[in-house]
Amino acid sequence: MKKIVVVLSLLAMVFCGNTAQAQVSESAEWASKIKAEGLGHSQIEPIAQYMTDFLGSRLTASLQKRRADSLVIVKLKELGLSNPRSAFAMEFTRGGWDVVKTYAAMTAPYYCAFSVNPRAWSGSTDGLVKGECMIFDVKSKEDLEKYRGKVAGKILLVPSTQSTEIRFEPLASRYDEEELEALTTDNRANARPRFGGGRMPFDFRAMMELRQLMSEFYAKEKPLCIVNASGSFNVPGGSGVNYKAGDPEPVPELNMPVEDHGRMVRLIQNGQPVEMELELINRFTDDREVRNIYAEIPGTDPKLKDEIVLLGGHFDSWHGGTGAADNASGCIVMMEAMRILKELGFKPKRTIRLALWGGEEQGLYGSRGYMEQYLFKDQKKLPGFDKFALYLNMDNGSGRFRGIYLERNDAAFPFFEAWMKYIESLGFQYLSPRTTGGTDHQTFTRVGLPAYQFIQDELEYGRTYHTIMDTYERLSLSDLRLDATIVAWLAACAANDPGRIPVYPAVNTNTPPMPF
Ligand SMILES: [Zn+2]
Repeated sequence: MKKIVVVLSLLAMVFCGNTAQAQVSESAEWASKIKAEGLGHSQIEPIAQYMTDFLGSRLTASLQKRRADSLVIVKLKELGLSNPRSAFAMEFTRGGWDVVKTYAAMTAPYYCAFSVNPRAWSGSTDGLVKGECMIFDVKSKEDLEKYRGKVAGKILLVPSTQSTEIRFEPLASRYDEEELEALTTDNRANARPRFGGGRMPFDFRAMMELRQLMSEFYAKEKPLCIVNASGSFNVPGGSGVNYKAGDPEPVPELNMPVEDHGRMVRLIQNGQPVEMELELINRFTDDREVRNIYAEIPGTDPKLKDEIVLLGGHFDSWHGGTGAADNASGCIVMMEAMRILKELGFKPKRTIRLALWGGEEQGLYGSRGYMEQYLFKDQKKLPGFDKFALYLNMDNGSGRFRGIYLERNDAAFPFFEAWMKYIESLGFQYLSPRTTGGTDHQTFTRVGLPAYQFIQDELEYGRTYHTIMDTYERLSLSDLRLDATIVAWLAACAANDPGRIPVYPAVNTNTPPMPF
């Protein structure tokens, strides 16, 4: 009996040894295990609820973000990941800012309470204040001068440039085969713009100069409040945009839906005086730390365990909603992918590290901090550079993955071609040679490291990102389940593949830093 047990365990050891040596990408067994866990025992729903409703908004360096940082660490511990921690990434220019109270209503010609949000880094009012509204239409330096001496104690309504025409396009769409095929060609001219955008129709430098002048104007002329019709957008485009920690507080500034704003503007244009009352309490702190959250599944191969397969997305959000599509969704997917591998007892040869970046919205601070600490600084490689196996980033909302953009790195194709064999059935079918932009993977691609974003269906992302509507309701849990399963599989392949995607052949280490 004893003998049989010994023989069996020896056989088991030989068997395990052999399978450990086989590439994960060739293992139907691991593919089906990962799919069964990711699709059959998904934890996407509880993780999603935790990361949105429970954590709330996560504006860079805010107290809310600090609260979320410590709570997400609790969750990562619960998922069984190794060494969950928050770590300093980079100094932030603005300091912390939190909303304490926001109230706004029209009080004349009749009463109507509005749903509003302060712009990020807006100042506070002196308690509950009341004032006459006036239209403040400034498109140039000369326009600004016309208002000098006339705005003290007034509430300034900035006219909207938003179209309110009835729209007939669907809010969400999935890529069709023709569009996906087009993405597999190396043709930048036909590239689908990220948010249905295109060339910026204005002079950015002139706009920034005018904003600076307007900030100075507000500080001197002392209007009660600036009211923008930016839908429910929270982007700090006004007086707070140039705010540096330690500056005097900027003028109070609100964003409100174009419908309410439009009503007041039309009343004034038709000779009807309009009055508002409002109270804004915002708290500034001198917390200037952008912090990242990390956790790992440690590598087990003595030679490869110091190499890193990095999975991540930015954890910071704007302050209005709960930053669900942008970008709790990316964090949820990467956390669930880690959970799947951990739960299955997958033993990666390389270390798989989760990174939830801070400060992305204000200029990729978190990922840039990681780069400067571990990978590349002052035109020089750091020890981590040659240990960097792969980075997979997610920051395009909650849609399903259809493939991946390989950032013009030809050497990446054979790897993904091998790895995608078992996930084509999940809809991951397209490898694009094209580049895609606007988020943290660019921190790494700038120095040639293999860092990629997925080709992802665009589900309402253009409508909701950076708005109060960016909440749990915007998440497609079935899409996120597929995404996490795909990431778990790719991470397993990358962690155990005998080879590593090389850095781009034409590494331009002299690329100037990004203009943030
Ligand atoms: Zn984002």
